[in-house]
Order: sequence, then structure tokens, then C-alpha cells
Amino acid sequence: MRLTDLPINTLKEVPSDAEAGSHQLMLRAGLIRQLASGLYTWLPLGMRVLNKVKKIIREEMNNAKALELTMPVVQPAELWVESGRWEEYGAELLRLQDRHNREYCLGPTHEEVITDIARHELKSYRQLPVNYYQIQTKFRDEIRPRFGVMRAREFVMKDAYSFHIDENSLLEGYHLMKEVYSNIFNRLQLTYRIVQADSGTIGGNKSEEFHVLAQSGEDAIAYSEKDGFAANIETIPLHPSNTKLAEPTEELKLVETPQVKTIKELCSFIKVKPEQCLKTLLVQGTDTPAVALILRGDHELNGVKAQNLKAVASPLRMLNTSEAKGATGVETGFLGPKDLKIPVYIDYSAAVVSDFVCGANINDHHYTGVNWKRDLPMPELADLRNAVAGDPSPSGNEPLSVAKGIEVGHIFQLGQKYSQAMKATVLDDEGKPRTMFMGCYGIGVTRVIAASIEQNHDEKGIIWPSAIAPYDVIIIPINMDKSYRIRETTEELYKKLQESGYETIMDDRSQRPGVKFADADLIGIPHRLVIAEKSLDQGQLEYKHRRSNETEMVPIKNIIKILKEKQL
Ligand code: ATP
Ligand code: MG
Repeated sequence: MRLTDLPINTLKEVPSDAEAGSHQLMLRAGLIRQLASGLYTWLPLGMRVLNKVKKIIREEMNNAKALELTMPVVQPAELWVESGRWEEYGAELLRLQDRHNREYCLGPTHEEVITDIARHELKSYRQLPVNYYQIQTKFRDEIRPRFGVMRAREFVMKDAYSFHIDENSLLEGYHLMKEVYSNIFNRLQLTYRIVQADSGTIGGNKSEEFHVLAQSGEDAIAYSEKDGFAANIETIPLHPSNTKLAEPTEELKLVETPQVKTIKELCSFIKVKPEQCLKTLLVQGTDTPAVALILRGDHELNGVKAQNLKAVASPLRMLNTSEAKGATGVETGFLGPKDLKIPVYIDYSAAVVSDFVCGANINDHHYTGVNWKRDLPMPELADLRNAVAGDPSPSGNEPLSVAKGIEVGHIFQLGQKYSQAMKATVLDDEGKPRTMFMGCYGIGVTRVIAASIEQNHDEKGIIWPSAIAPYDVIIIPINMDKSYRIRETTEELYKKLQESGYETIMDDRSQRPGVKFADADLIGIPHRLVIAEKSLDQGQLEYKHRRSNETEMVPIKNIIKILKEKQL
């Protein structure tokens, strides 16, 4: 492709509303443009990357005998009523009506539609197992679309659904998909981890997520190399601490703390570390207006764990400031466990802190030097928080480390949830109807591209892995307008590269070399070839790989051999 035929509109400035590095680079390199919040156009350069990702996914899915189909984006409400999700699904489901006032939604996922297909198309156990997949647009009215295509409202997903006669077959299908996903993410040259998405104790069927490790990730993953264990920090059950509660060393003191409401403000006011402070959170109770949950100041409440407590209303609801004041008579920033007259639960790790600081249940006051048993009775203990770095791994072999991850894939054993609700049966070997077992498997096709850029960029721009680069090679001729020799060599080289199967860009714009170099770095083409008058005398051109800082002079006649050797 000649750049005179491909209008690229690269941006020097970082767009002000783009937070994530990948979002900035996708806009600057001209891969995508925003139409409205969470809605993006894929421009020609971006489209090439998207197609390459789709091709890899298709090849691997087809290899595993999955069958491609495509389902409508617009789905009738009746199917969702049948599965129960018309009520259950929140505001992310965009609902609409047609001219006959019939209700529809834009598909955020396709379990209902595929189960409807399966119950009509599949008749006998002999036809199973079957895995149907599509690569298609999804719509989710995300509350906070951000990071560009990473969390968009309209995005492309590869979703697959498998149907089985029994649980064993489902397990086989699930493990096959896990392998297929690993192959796909390996071919996409991503550094990823397979993460347990639920622990079994918290509930739900088995599911695992594929996470690309990146600083900008929205999920926190706890892992232990020794155990080969990785799980979302929210899904790890934690046990009573082995640490012994130390003897008190301080006196209990009431301290005036005017306007000091957050743990951060408290720490700087009293000069104490967050782990020495205990925070008191109020949630709605099952039979009481309020239940207090006590955690260490540096720990995060885990909503699922909390709502599993009998005394806590499910779904979990934090009390607002006026409800909290109504239930306790104190402003929220000054709540604490001492003399609190509502049910109280304490997280295991908060129960082993001595000489702690907490709200005094008196406005504008905190206590310091508080000690369990000496100053107040120990409340009921519970596991209330997310795991943090340093918590023991499930085997106890090694402390957990925590890294940020971007969820690019999710595989799930659905069991009979949808097939039961929607009566998807086949006849078994005795001619009796049997409810099928299902698995579902998603890849965020557009998100994968943003995730890849998060892992592959520098201050100059994108560094595409060879598998998904929009082009393999970029030729930059210097002073092409003025020199016949440069023009002729460039054309010849361009032809030769294309004939050898290299997807090539020729930067034939009449731009300054500096502009061309900057654009080549920004759009991240792996191999850069510069043709200049001086080196032509020796029959050479300048070669540089996007990942390397070194340039080298190489003979033009050997270029194909050299490109093969330089494949990174
Ligand atoms: P998340 O937790 O990130 O919201 P999810 O668990 O809701 O994702 P799934 O229903 O498992 O997502 O969807 C399958 C895949 O689709 C995800 O693994 C992710 O890669 C992708 N995906 C989900 N939501 C979005 C979105 N808003 N924008 C882009 N990709 C998305
Ligand atoms: Mg998911």
C-alpha cells in the first residue's frame, strides 16, 4: 500500500480524554475514532489488525471442530423472559421497541439465542457434542465506558457455546476450549495468565479467565508461581490469621479529630499507618437496619463475602450517610466498634491488630491505643476482604503476589442453567429426552488489540507483534521526488517484497524524513527500510526493527533473506 493511497491521519498530541496508553496510541496512530461514548469506528489501518486477530481465532476454533455461525444483534425479549434474564439483567441491557411496540434488546451476549437454535436444530445425542461460535458485535450499556475499545459499549466478541449429553462431555469440551484459548493467546504473542474466576465456595459453576498482565488492567490477580495458582483477588477465600494478637502497649485515648473522616486523613493527622487503623462500614442487615463490618484501614471490603453472611442483606447495600447517621447517631467518618449498638462482624485480619486507631462513635473524635478484650469485646469473626500481596497462597507454600490484569477471555461451564430454563433437550440412547449441558467461551476481540498495545509500546508508539501488525514492512524513500534512482529502487523493492508475501507500506508522501520516521514508529510496523542516495552507491539500504534501537546497513539484494532472519 502506498501512503498516497492510504490517508493516515496521525496525531502528535495526546488526546486529552484518553487515560490508558493503548487508547492514546490507537487514536494517535489512527486505528480508531470515537463516534460517541463507548462507540468506535475502526479505520482502515486498525481494521487490518482486527482482521488478523479474527483470522487467528477462526483458524484455532475451526481446528477444534467448532462451527461458525452468526446470530442477530437484535434479540426478541421473549427469549430473555424465558431464561429469566429480562428481569435479572441490569441497565447494561439496552432494551428497545419496534414499530409494533414489540420489545427487543441489543445482544450483550447470546446464550438465549444459541439455546433456542440448539433446541430446534439438535435432536439426538448422536449429534453431540457441538460447539457453535460467532465473531460478532455486542452491545453493553457500560456504566463507565473507558480506555477506548478496552471497555466500550459496542465491541466485537468471539463467543462460542458448546452442547453436551452429560457433564463428562462438558468437561472434555471445556478443557479443549482452554487449550484452544491458550493457542490463540500464544499466537497473538500476549503474556497472559489463566485465572480462576470463582472459588467454588463463593458459588457459581467453574469458570476461568484469561488475563493479559498490564499496569492499566482493571482487575487485580493474585498468584503464586510455586503453586501455579492464579485467581482474581475477589475470589480467594481467606482464613483466620496465624498471627497472635499482641499484648497492649498503649493506653486507650480519646483524641479530637475535627473533620478527619477518611483513613488517609486520619493517617496524616495522627501519624499512623493505615494497617494500624480499623474502619467501620455500615451495610443493610437482613433483619436490622444496619450491620457494621470492621476491616483494617488498608483492606478492601469484598461484597460477595459480606453478603454471604446471614445477618447481611443480599444483594449487599452500603448505607448512605443519612441512613448511617439514623442507625448510629454518628457521622460516618467517626464510627468505630467500641460501644456500637448494632450487629458487628470483624474481618480475621482486623482481629489481630492491637493498639489500633478507630472512630469513637462521637463526632469529630477517634480513639487511639484501642485493644480487643481489654477495651471492648471481640465481635464475631468473618472473612470479609479481598486478598492482598503477602496473603498465604491456598497451599501455604508461598505468599501471594498481586498483578494487574486485563480480562481478554472467559471460559465457563454453564451446566444446565439455560438448557433447563429453555427446555433444550435431545433424545438419549433410550429415546428419552435429556436436558443438554452447556459451556460458553468468550474472547474480547477488540479488547485483545488494546491489551496487546498495553504490552507492546514505547514512548514513540506501538510495537506490533508480527502476528497482528497491520503491515510487515515499511519502506521510507528519502527524496523520492528528486531522484529517479531512489524512485526506481523503491518501486522494485516494493514489488519484490509483495511478491515474497510481505505486506508492505511505501511511504511515498512528499513529507520530511523526520515526519515519516515518526509516523513509522507511531504506527509500529515491525521492519523499517530506508532508501537514501548515499547508501545506494554501495547497493545498501538502512534496516531497523521497531523493537531495536540500532540501525544497520544491509545489501538490498539480500533483503528477503535478511527479513526472514529478523523475524521477532
Ligand atoms: P468485564 O468483567 O471486563 O466487564 P465480563 O466478565 O462482563 O467482562 P464476559 O461476559 O465474560 O465479560 O465477556 C467475554 C469477553 O468480552 C471478556 O473476557 C472481555 O474480553 C470482553 N468484553 C466484555 N465487556 C467488554 C467491553 N465493555 N468492551 C470490550 N470488551 C469487552
Ligand atoms: Mg468475564
